[in-house]
Amino acid sequence: MTAPAAQREAQVIQDAPKQLFIDGQWRSARSGRTLEVVDPSTAEVVCTVADASEEDGWDALRAAQRAQREFAAVPPRRRAEMLMGAFELMHQRKDDLALLMTLEMGKPLTEAYGEVAYAAEFFRHFAEEATRISGNYQVAPAGNARFLVARQPVGPSLLITPWNFPLAMGTRKLGPAIAAGCTSVLKPASQTPLSMLALAQILHEAEVPAGVVNILVTSDSGGVMEPLIRSGIARKLSFTGSTSVGKMLLEQCASTVMRTSMELGGNAAFVVFDDADLDKAVDGAVLAKMRNSGEACTAANRIFAHRSIAEEFSRRLAERLRQMRVGRGVDDGVAVGPLIDEKQQKKVQELVDDAVRSGASVLLGGEPAAGEGYFYPPTVLTDVPREARMWSEEIFGPVAPVTPFDSEEEVIDWVNATEYGLVNYVYTESLNRALRVAEQVESGMVGINQGVVSNPAAPFGGVKESGLGREGGDTGIDEFLETKYIGIAMD
Ligand code: NAP
Repeated sequence: MTAPAAQREAQVIQDAPKQLFIDGQWRSARSGRTLEVVDPSTAEVVCTVADASEEDGWDALRAAQRAQREFAAVPPRRRAEMLMGAFELMHQRKDDLALLMTLEMGKPLTEAYGEVAYAAEFFRHFAEEATRISGNYQVAPAGNARFLVARQPVGPSLLITPWNFPLAMGTRKLGPAIAAGCTSVLKPASQTPLSMLALAQILHEAEVPAGVVNILVTSDSGGVMEPLIRSGIARKLSFTGSTSVGKMLLEQCASTVMRTSMELGGNAAFVVFDDADLDKAVDGAVLAKMRNSGEACTAANRIFAHRSIAEEFSRRLAERLRQMRVGRGVDDGVAVGPLIDEKQQKKVQELVDDAVRSGASVLLGGEPAAGEGYFYPPTVLTDVPREARMWSEEIFGPVAPVTPFDSEEEVIDWVNATEYGLVNYVYTESLNRALRVAEQVESGMVGINQGVVSNPAAPFGGVKESGLGREGGDTGIDEFLETKYIGIAMD
């Protein structure tokens, strides 16, 4: 690394907020505790941040509770202006935000820039939605009453986000919450707190009132969040993370019948039919597999190629992945960053070893990179049998398992043979087949001849154990609104 590059990294870390953001104030944890943020590309600690305990959690939730009534009364246009202000500040600060994200999470800088733009877009989208919250007026069927149907903010909300998209998973929740008039307490993943703290600074500067957004970083997620969830003060939990944690949180929410949105794990299939445009299919597979080094809920976890093209497709995919440079995300030309931590690196290796033991062949990669950081090389496995664990578990790494199939019917059965249902990808030049398959696969989203479906203006979410509710699109704001019916008697 050159001296100016090292200096710039140090400067961005030094300038980044590292305290809790509660009631419009930056403050240390009451206990004085801090937690370490590690750069996964070097395994070195880059800084420490305040580490909240339960007491801080109560402070944050009470601040959100106090701010709720006044914020609900803020005119929608004003809420929209706050979001647009934050959108613009995110663009102005994109260099710092992207670098901060790469340093705490590892993704290549080009992808971090992409995420900053994607994340900001949720604020613009929901700024536009804020002024379109509408109701209804209806004459009762008997004519003796009128129905007014209003939509109101659900109330103080708890938002929990994962480490893989440290900024976008936050704006995808904060955007609709602010647009709807809800206050919130957001708990980012303990491994990637810096992006969300930097966002809090931006929201503060965009004049979001004190108490409306509170950021709680903690190494004790369960200990801090469970009492808040069970308190009955918060009226909504929006969670993005693993299915196992999501299920546990759903149980906790049941105690106060709290509304939930759950964006959970995935096991996406990527299907390439024999009539697909192979160039497009390879491009799409690279995106669907390698975005975020495979650490995405939408990552192609199982790739099915028709037997007649499986060999050529696998060879061409391996060729493309071979050319992708692995390294520190901040370095020029790097396309594959490190995995988030050693545990994830080991898990990916275990899944690869298990697939090979079950009979898969290694076309590319397959061994962890030596040296510092939690790197794993792009890997292509062929003829991965159904018994392999990676058929049913999220790989969350740059490993592409390709399996041949013979018929449309067979592959649809395989696609649906999972408890997950987030997204599936289909490559075919036949419109009829594309629609037929899209209708039959069990997932909340389907990409036809495209390897990325995420778009703030589209409803993102899964079925089965991939979740409940939708984020983004024209329904995203509904997750933060209650319907109230007001009956008016008529003489
Ligand atoms: P995770 O372990 O479930 O953690 C997600 C968040 O939950 C983190 O903030 C984590 O905090 C917190 N958490 C963990 N245990 C908790 C508890 N007992 N009470 C309250 N909060 C708790 O998931 P992850 O490993 O960070 O993220 C990867 C998973 O997220 C994958 O399964 C991926 O598919 C899924 N994901 C889904 C979507 C989607 O939109 N469907 C998007 C992105 C990711 P700590 O950091 O302190 O553990």
